[in-house]
Amino acid sequence: MVDPETGERLDDGLVLWFPAPRSATGEDVGEFHLHGSRAVLAAVMQVLGRLGLRVAEPGEFTRRAFLNGKLDLLQAEAIADLAAAETEAQRRQALRQLDGDLGSLYRGWSQRLTRILAHLEAAIDFPDEDLPPEIEDRILGETERLIAEIERHLADGHRGERLRDGIMVAIIGPPNAGKSSLLNKISRREAAITSPIAGTTRDIVEVAIDLQGYPVVLADTAGLRDSEDVVEREGLRRTLRRAEEAEIRLFVFDARCPEEARGAAAWPGPDTILVANKVDLLRSPEAAGRAVMPGLDPGIHGDTSLGQGVNGRDKPGHDEGGTQERVVPISALTGEGIDALLSALGERVAHTYRIEAPVLTRARHRQALEECAQCLRRALGACLPELRAEDFRLALRSLGHITGAVDVEDLLDVIFRDFCIGK
Ligand code: GDP
Repeated sequence: MVDPETGERLDDGLVLWFPAPRSATGEDVGEFHLHGSRAVLAAVMQVLGRLGLRVAEPGEFTRRAFLNGKLDLLQAEAIADLAAAETEAQRRQALRQLDGDLGSLYRGWSQRLTRILAHLEAAIDFPDEDLPPEIEDRILGETERLIAEIERHLADGHRGERLRDGIMVAIIGPPNAGKSSLLNKISRREAAITSPIAGTTRDIVEVAIDLQGYPVVLADTAGLRDSEDVVEREGLRRTLRRAEEAEIRLFVFDARCPEEARGAAAWPGPDTILVANKVDLLRSPEAAGRAVMPGLDPGIHGDTSLGQGVNGRDKPGHDEGGTQERVVPISALTGEGIDALLSALGERVAHTYRIEAPVLTRARHRQALEECAQCLRRALGACLPELRAEDFRLALRSLGHITGAVDVEDLLDVIFRDFCIGK
């Protein structure tokens, strides 16, 4: 590679030429493979600058690919997700979206909606001829089916979005049960801590971990106890809210304390793993079992025999990954039982988040689909065909916003802002 003005040699390298339209962006693309040192880069960039070229903005390649029809918006977002993926499950979800499954689903709905609209508009254009009742029935029937499909798709428990953002696991329990110690133990033990989360409240400390390929955010919360103290009460309120919002709860209690064990057993909600902590303070695992047995109803909690079969896996006919509550004995001090707890948690997470069908991954998509369903419901109740047609057009527009099939200029800056340079 030489400077065209001075003839000075800049580097030896390889140039790949991808002619339009069969390049990633759909434009002519030249790729230089150089000895990427700062000096080589500076010299080459300087020459290229003189030729009127500039460095790409973050996300610019993907944006151009989208504008040239190489990708839909969902695929462009999938590239951002793939670049940001920290765990296996996130990588797989992003790749699935990049394959275009989600786009195909929404385009299929758009096509059906377009057909409905075409039928209706034909009827409006010929007002003298009444719409045959069977066509009216077909329009209404198809609209109802579409609404049902969209609603089913929306009722996915936010799994795709959670997989993108991290699955929330709240550590709750009475004060001094060992919640913070447990969080510390897990965060030090897990080799693959993905990132500490900044900006948490004073009462809730969060740590992001990679649990068997799934992104999990563990939140340590204030202890559950009645208090007159205003600050403590606020902490408790936040704890309860976090516990409610979390997908899974780890209820930690002192294994020596039947009172706390009873409190744990009474905690409502199916996705709760009971954690009997401080077993090192008991003489033996058998003693641990006896210590908590009085507080637990063996009828509900299938596995209260703390010494063995922590996860119920030894049991025939065990409901794999189901919502049955179990007790896992641990010591946050010595680390005993932590692996069994992580594997119980991992099983629960994998059971819920093993995703096969295309799922929603962003609040943006959810909002557009909710709007779409709302327009369709309004269309069903519309008293004039013209109003009904307008509702169908608005529903189509909402769907088009997701894939970028309608004008989304105002959205693009927001979507591509999060990309990194070179994508
Ligand atoms: P939290 O209020 O639930 O967050 O409880 P902490 O993690 O602050 O623990 C309360 C006290 O119990 C601390 O003094 C810990 O060192 C102690 N502790 C926590 N876990 C264990 C354990 O497994 N064994 C023993 N012996 N002490 C523990």
